[in-house]
Amino acid sequence: METCTKVTKEWLNTQEYREKNFAREKLVINPAKACQPLGALLCALGIEASLPFVHGSQGCAAYFRSTLSRHYREPVAAVSDSMTEDSAVFGGQSNLIEGLKNANALYSPKVIAMFTSCMAEVIGDDINAYLGNAKEQEAIPKDLPVALANTPSFKGSHITGYDTMLKGLIECLAVPRQEGKINDRLYVVPGFDTYTANLREYKRLLKVMEAPFTLLPDQSDVLDAPNLGTYELYPGGTPITEMNEALNAGSFLFAQTYSTPTTRKYLAGKEVPVEVISMPIGIGGTDKFIEAVAKFTGKEVQKEITIERGRSIDAMTDAHQYIHGKKFALFGDPDVLMGVVSFLLEMGGEPVHIVCTNSTPLFKKAMESMLEASPYGQGATLYAGKDLWHLRSLLVTEPVDMLIGDSHGKWAARDANIPLVRIGFPITDRVNLHRYPIIGYSGVINMITMIVNTFLEEVDRNSPEAYFEMMR
Ligand code: SF4
Repeated sequence: METCTKVTKEWLNTQEYREKNFAREKLVINPAKACQPLGALLCALGIEASLPFVHGSQGCAAYFRSTLSRHYREPVAAVSDSMTEDSAVFGGQSNLIEGLKNANALYSPKVIAMFTSCMAEVIGDDINAYLGNAKEQEAIPKDLPVALANTPSFKGSHITGYDTMLKGLIECLAVPRQEGKINDRLYVVPGFDTYTANLREYKRLLKVMEAPFTLLPDQSDVLDAPNLGTYELYPGGTPITEMNEALNAGSFLFAQTYSTPTTRKYLAGKEVPVEVISMPIGIGGTDKFIEAVAKFTGKEVQKEITIERGRSIDAMTDAHQYIHGKKFALFGDPDVLMGVVSFLLEMGGEPVHIVCTNSTPLFKKAMESMLEASPYGQGATLYAGKDLWHLRSLLVTEPVDMLIGDSHGKWAARDANIPLVRIGFPITDRVNLHRYPIIGYSGVINMITMIVNTFLEEVDRNSPEAYFEMMR
């Protein structure tokens, strides 16, 4: 039995198995993505006194909440109307109405953000009509805003759900755009970003640049709340008053491309100025963010920002020799991958395998042209729509020096005997990483620290006595 397992294990590491693995069409093994409602829930948590409401099964709600809780190590408030077998037969209207009534009575939200799980979508529940009936029956006050998002998980991923919920929240809360009422604010949308430190870094940079801004949504105080001895249900989020004025924004700046297309389209249809950039990771990515903000304010870039940039370049110079020429495999969301790959190329690192389960044709084109434009991107292949079992085959047949991705990558990294640097979502087996930004110039320093020190740790751990040096 043991010999048999050993033979099978060895065969799993062969080129022959890799070909069979890549020929599979009808089975997905450990995809690097979550389902739509999880993204909707994250988005909903970023609005002041907003109560996420899952119209669907309780088990789904438990999955989203526990995944977010494990990543942030914070309680994640959300309710569900707990549809069960009878709802699958008769529809979920009575659950939805009773759920709304209880949610409002128990938790007094300023807005309810309602989204669906698979069950409600499969049976075709009309949440818009049900909501109308709930208000008609006075289950909730007629003026309590309820934002809606259809988030069927048999298509898209968590980034699609985030986008749909964001559009739903703006649609529900914002008053119509009106000439003469246009405000001077830059609405910055971080996209599906699970680093509370990134959100704080956006706010810090915008303050330094003296830009009047609204971060939308903003989960930083909700998912990284201080422990002051008492639990607060709604500890932060984008103020409702600023949500009300969203369509009167001076402009919107989207800091992620692939997690926001629906919201951007909606805003453009309302004649709101919209700009989109890649996630500001690495020097080039951060420069684009700073330029976009400076263009909005019409002010020179502050000396403080120039000095910060210089410090990051110094850190890159100090550490480039440890990354230059090293081979990397990466997996994750499109926006994060664009950013991290661009950073590696800036450092002379060589991406080899890039796995993106929730890839899109636009992302594929953008990633491939970025790789093509760099001498360090020539050996890279983007595996669009592939999963972590494909990634394992790549790592054991075509080895690299490091894997970059979330905690789900630890098995493949162990099988390939390479280190995993955890960047992405979810990170459930290390602490505090979401409290260190990966965006901005300070993000550059943090990523260098994580990647280079991991390599150096490996060198020390595997070093023979004669080469065990004080200096590295
Ligand atoms: S995939 Fe569907 S059934 Fe599964 S947790 Fe997500 S919403 Fe629920």
